[in-house]
Amino acid sequence: MSRSALVTGGSRGIGLAIARELQRGGDAVAVTYRSGEPPEGLLGVHCDITDSAQVDVAFKQVEEEHGPVEVLVANAGITKDQLLALMSEDDFTSVLDTNLTGSFRVAKRAVRGMMRKRNGRIILISSVVGLLGSGGQANYAASKAGLVGFARSLARELGSRNITVNVVAPGFIETDMTAVLPEERQAEIKKNVPLGRYGSVDEIAKTVGFLASDSAAYITGAVIPVDGGLGMGH
Ligand code: NDP
Repeated sequence: MSRSALVTGGSRGIGLAIARELQRGGDAVAVTYRSGEPPEGLLGVHCDITDSAQVDVAFKQVEEEHGPVEVLVANAGITKDQLLALMSEDDFTSVLDTNLTGSFRVAKRAVRGMMRKRNGRIILISSVVGLLGSGGQANYAASKAGLVGFARSLARELGSRNITVNVVAPGFIETDMTAVLPEERQAEIKKNVPLGRYGSVDEIAKTVGFLASDSAAYITGAVIPVDGGLGMGH
């Protein structure tokens, strides 16, 4: 049966690959976008996840077109890398506001309908650096580690309503976010990855597709690394 699925930040990168994967599985998929045009063949809803009012309007649009959201993928995220001594308070709070509080805003809005339906899947896109740490990314790593505690708390709160909440922790994936890294940094990263390469957006999308599928019905509160072995041991 076709479910209503929403992917935040689904107009490019990992989010777009996830949206296409869910669509291939038969779901009616909407994506939020902020800039540019929404992708072809998907319902695009304009939304900045740092603004609760915009989140509410976006959900109303999705509900009108596809019904209440049953699969939520909180994927939108940003980086503002800087060493702590040079990091402004705004660099810190804006990354937290998008990556962590943004996920709170969309999850809070989504669970209403999921609780009523007694069915739902929430998948949060964290990062290997949430648990590994990363010099120059204290803001980003804190936001991504925060998602783990957030997800596990929701998994406990919502399990009795048949809502699962899981985290996917990608390693370095070929997208706009990693393309901006200097060549030497990219080579250094690959040296530390047991599989010796970046991941593809489709490798993340397949994992999210699995977590959203019936096959993952008994998985909740899990953190699934898709990182070529980079974060092993966590
Ligand atoms: P991109 O930079 O390619 O895309 C980020 C997406 O998030 C864009 O669609 C962007 O929208 C959206 N977004 C950012 N801020 C907001 C906001 N305030 N409101 C709504 N949408 C917003 O990133 P990736 O595809 O690489 O990353 C996707 C997720 O995966 C992120 O959470 C990232 O932290 C995580 N991740 C990525 C890794 C990688 O190696 N690429 C590794 C580990 C985790 P717009 O186009 O309008 O800017």
